Amino acid sequence: MSSTTPVSTTKFRVAIVGAGLGGLLLALFLQKYSTDIEVDIYESAAKLAELGAGIGVWPRVMEVIKYLGLEDDLHKIAGTRDSTEMALYYRKADEPEEVDVRAIEPALLTFRRSDLQAVLVKHLHTADKIFYSKRLAAYVEPKAGSLDPIVLQFKDGTTATCDLLVGSDGIRSAVRRTMYSERANAAKDNGDSEQAAKLRSMIDPVWSGQVAYRGVVPVDKLEGSAFTDIDKPVIFIGKNKNVISYPISRGEAVNIAAFVRTPGGEGTTYEGPWVTECTGPEVAEKFEGWSSGIQDLLKAMDKPLDWAVHTVRELPTNVSGRVVLIGDAAHAMTPHQGSGAGQAIEDGFILASVLSHPSVKLSNVSKALKVHDELRRPFAHGVQLASQKNADLYHLYRLGWEHITAEQSSKGDYPREMLNAIGDELESAMAWALHGSILDDQEKALKLLEQL
Ligand SMILES: Cc1cc2nc3c(=O)[nH]c(=O)nc-3n(C[C@H](O)[C@H](O)[C@H](O)COP(=O)(O)OP(=O)(O)OC[C@H]3O[C@@H](n4cnc5c(N)ncnc54)[C@H](O)[C@@H]3O)c2cc1C
Repeated sequence: MSSTTPVSTTKFRVAIVGAGLGGLLLALFLQKYSTDIEVDIYESAAKLAELGAGIGVWPRVMEVIKYLGLEDDLHKIAGTRDSTEMALYYRKADEPEEVDVRAIEPALLTFRRSDLQAVLVKHLHTADKIFYSKRLAAYVEPKAGSLDPIVLQFKDGTTATCDLLVGSDGIRSAVRRTMYSERANAAKDNGDSEQAAKLRSMIDPVWSGQVAYRGVVPVDKLEGSAFTDIDKPVIFIGKNKNVISYPISRGEAVNIAAFVRTPGGEGTTYEGPWVTECTGPEVAEKFEGWSSGIQDLLKAMDKPLDWAVHTVRELPTNVSGRVVLIGDAAHAMTPHQGSGAGQAIEDGFILASVLSHPSVKLSNVSKALKVHDELRRPFAHGVQLASQKNADLYHLYRLGWEHITAEQSSKGDYPREMLNAIGDELESAMAWALHGSILDDQEKALKLLEQL
């Protein structure tokens, strides 16, 4: 080798498909923890788009975001002017006078998603390595054992290569589609058509039975209205429905998601487009009989989106060879733990910790991905289940509430102590997000890597 030939210090090249919160945070964690991993990001949109307006983040997630040195910038864009963590209130509102259920300690930070994305991109040194308008169609992995690159095929007919592919391409993931089509084909080739059908059923998301009406209202539009909770996050619960509202953009606006559940709809196919426009008064009509505060809040929404909430079925693995799914691509969940993005970020944190470990090289990276899968998949699935349990509490389906009709509930015709049981369960259901630490999982991952 001539003395002028540059020596490559890159241990492998990672392609991140999807520049949502999961993909961007993974890129930032890799930037922080490694100097020898090259990253390219492929995003289908022409620019970063706002997918839903607001996002809530719990201490467990903020703990790792702080490592990236983003704290100061994040506080500048937080939901309230003083940018402190907020207590979360639960209130029953499907009757004329709202009834307090519980408040959990100050812990929640909220953001406008577009502000958050802008901060992430600002801190990414290689923002020029985000390739926009690149929609992945499929990928081709080399034969097991080969170290040849993975080939990415884009809808525009172009291709690219990488050593490791991360599918952070959201709920309708093209990476998941290829991974599970291949697994299903392999099962079919082995004569196991039952397993093939099961694997194929994991490709498409399923409807949660819920529709979310999402919108934002500037606070001045709420002046003089019956809705006064402009400065705090509140989850308003009631039979088959709930509303969450919280301040964003330093208190200048209120973010709203109003959920309506179709009993028996869970797991069925949603007919029609997933996202359509509607009007505030149309949404308010669905909450007829709810408190006047909720009525005023919903009516004030300008062009809310009617959003069919889907989830991804529990997957037996998020890894195949040198391909890994993270975030919604792996475990899209209902939003009732406020944790879908948080789980995408936790995936990114552990994955970056694993990939940047000195013992992980191209030759053993597929084994290292299994360590990531072993830790992250069961945890995220647990959050997915907990989110569904929260929905059942919000919608008064459990703890004796299943015997209370919507009419009784709206007339206040139920024993008040039944609300305590809901409050207790909600409080304990959120404890992991407030008091848990993902650093324990990072430590476990690093220990497992020593045995590679
Ligand atoms: C009503 C509602 C409220 C929510 N509130 C919260 C909350 O408060 N807190 C929280 O933590 N979570 C919340 N969530 C969940 C959260 O929005 C998601 O879990 C999170 O956005 C997932 O991040 P992601 O990066 O995995 O996927 P996404 O955010 O979906 O990003 C995927 C990216 O991939 C791109 N892409 C898609 N297909 C391709 C392709 N083929 N090729 C290339 N690029 C592609 C997309 O354009 C997008 O940029 C909520 C969800 C809903 C529906």
